[in-house]
Amino acid sequence: MSVYIIDKLITDFDETISEADTIQLLVYAAAENREHDRTQTLTHWKETVEWYTTKYTHIVDEWLDNHDSRQLSIVDFLKAFETLEIASIRRVMQGRFLEGLYHAQLRQLGREIQKRQGVESIFTAMRKADVTIEILSANWSQILVEGAVEGLCDRVTANRLVFGTNQLKREVTPRSTGEIKLNVISAHDKLRHFRDHRSKTGQTAYIGDSISDLLAMLEADVGILIGENRTALRTIERFQIPTISIADRLSEEITDKGTILHTHSWETLDRFLKRKT
Ligand SMILES: [Mg+2]
Repeated sequence: MSVYIIDKLITDFDETISEADTIQLLVYAAAENREHDRTQTLTHWKETVEWYTTKYTHIVDEWLDNHDSRQLSIVDFLKAFETLEIASIRRVMQGRFLEGLYHAQLRQLGREIQKRQGVESIFTAMRKADVTIEILSANWSQILVEGAVEGLCDRVTANRLVFGTNQLKREVTPRSTGEIKLNVISAHDKLRHFRDHRSKTGQTAYIGDSISDLLAMLEADVGILIGENRTALRTIERFQIPTISIADRLSEEITDKGTILHTHSWETLDRFLKRKT
């Protein structure tokens, strides 16, 4: 019998596996490659981040503090964010914030990303025990994520930067054009991919840290929230989603679809997911 109560783990990347969000990392690396308009690009980026943050906060406050919206569902709430995410990606492409990155540079950036404590040894042990591990991420660069989890998982699904060579400049090595081939943007995309990728025969866990992970989490046999993302916690409270702190239930084998299991660390989660004898 397997050491773990699950056959498959599908996991978010940014702030679930990584300590911090990696979006800034991508934009700053791209800006480094662009001498002629670096300052201008970074100023424009700062404005874009401010625009996004204002819109995001507005949606959160409108929905979570407004008592008139009681009859609306979590699905409607998450749809409002989907519209913002699509508008935001359009701005990122128009601003060419991700232009000029090389494959090798992205992979190296990925390798340097600080991961949450225990991730590497836990993934290695899980895979030895025949648990399949897949990453499902709304990150803009699949190569960056692959660099971060090289040899630690079975599959990565994310968005992809588009690459090309500038013939006029006689470039030989392809560089990112600033366009993104989109695959995973919203909570609904994550749910769709989760359904396609979950184990056909056994138990599947989904772990994430933010509201874009909530639908996949609720669909999983074991749905886990990691960390203290304030919007995620407020959303769970607002929509009265049953939640259990796993630190208090380490001796139990809980597979309760629709209940969110909350953890602060991968180490606690690993103990929880092990079969009790
Ligand atoms: Mg995340």
